[in-house]
Amino acid sequence: MKILCAGPTTMANNVREQLSVSKTNPDLDPTYAPYQRRVEAKLSALLHTTATSFFMLGEGIMGLEAAIFSLVEPEDRVLVLSNGFFGGGFAEYVKHCGGKAHVLNFEYDKGIDIETLHVFLEQDHDFKVATFVHCETPTGVTNDLVGISQLLKRYGILVITDCVSSMGGEDIHFDETGVDVMLGGSQKVLSAPVGLSLVTLSEDAKRAIASRRTPILSYYLNFKNHYDFNGAPFPYTMNENLIYAMDAALDNLMAKDAVTLHRTYSELTRRIVTNAGLKLYAKDSFSNTVTAVKMPDGIPAEALLQTMRERGIAISKGVSSFSDDLFRIGHMGENISYDNFLSLFEALDDSFRALGVTLNASMKDAFLMAHLYGEV
Ligand SMILES: *Cc1c(COP(=O)(O)O)cnc(C)c1O
Repeated sequence: MKILCAGPTTMANNVREQLSVSKTNPDLDPTYAPYQRRVEAKLSALLHTTATSFFMLGEGIMGLEAAIFSLVEPEDRVLVLSNGFFGGGFAEYVKHCGGKAHVLNFEYDKGIDIETLHVFLEQDHDFKVATFVHCETPTGVTNDLVGISQLLKRYGILVITDCVSSMGGEDIHFDETGVDVMLGGSQKVLSAPVGLSLVTLSEDAKRAIASRRTPILSYYLNFKNHYDFNGAPFPYTMNENLIYAMDAALDNLMAKDAVTLHRTYSELTRRIVTNAGLKLYAKDSFSNTVTAVKMPDGIPAEALLQTMRERGIAISKGVSSFSDDLFRIGHMGENISYDNFLSLFEALDDSFRALGVTLNASMKDAFLMAHLYGEV
């Protein structure tokens, strides 16, 4: 099966092989902790920073929750910016640790409007923390990371961003963003196995954690137990194979001009899909890592996913209330290859034909033409 989902993504062979490498015990081997610190530094290098990065064992969502648990205390006010499913989700974690979430909703099919945010902050900026999502994977909308973070910083608000599906595929310079806690996942653009939360922290974030009035209400979700290397090197037992795999995945990604590659394939995908007569969900702020496309009326996305699976291609459908209405292509990390996309567009042509939908143009022919012109 060729994977063109919006995560988990395709794993390269050299990454997969690392899962079966047998070494010693990560707690007993004196070379292991320094090794992992080097892999963490590689993640920081990907984000063009020397800020502290670390890995937590768990899927991406755990890092989001841990960020809230580490920074938010009972009664703290948190501004939750939401223009999608993951954006609104932060309010839930805030509630669990006794904080007061104020959710500011924006339209789902556009990027967060900075002017609206500015007007809101002029009225009310008494927040300790703000959260937002860089790329809303369910809808293919990528928010203005630097513009939003810098604006929040001007009001002295700590910024937490979910970059789970953008990290590695968008040009991110951590220090210039003004973000205090940047969160990533292993299984999206990085194309590593599911199971690691990626965290990068500013010094302001560490200071905020150090000056809490109340203890953090969790042991494992306490960031300090992960970055304070003067204690034990890890909270408990690391899954070293996941780190070996992450190491290889970071090498693979950093050996490419990944930002250009993602931009090229995302622009081409949008052009080919719209020229064929299909409509994108997003109206602006298009993601470079995932494209969400509206299903033609009357055909549920699952029907398309099934005909695609029969042709050996896995794509994603919509999330939650959009489940039937959208299909999504993950042009993320190792999903991106000439062969994968040729097969994708050929299978989409065939599938829509099988479903009785007449397209304006063959997507496969458009892709071959783009290849002929040297675009890919
Ligand atoms: C995938 C995703 C997550 C959750 O990551 P998991 O590894 O599935 O827990 C969170 N936020 C965004 C934007 C995502 O795309």
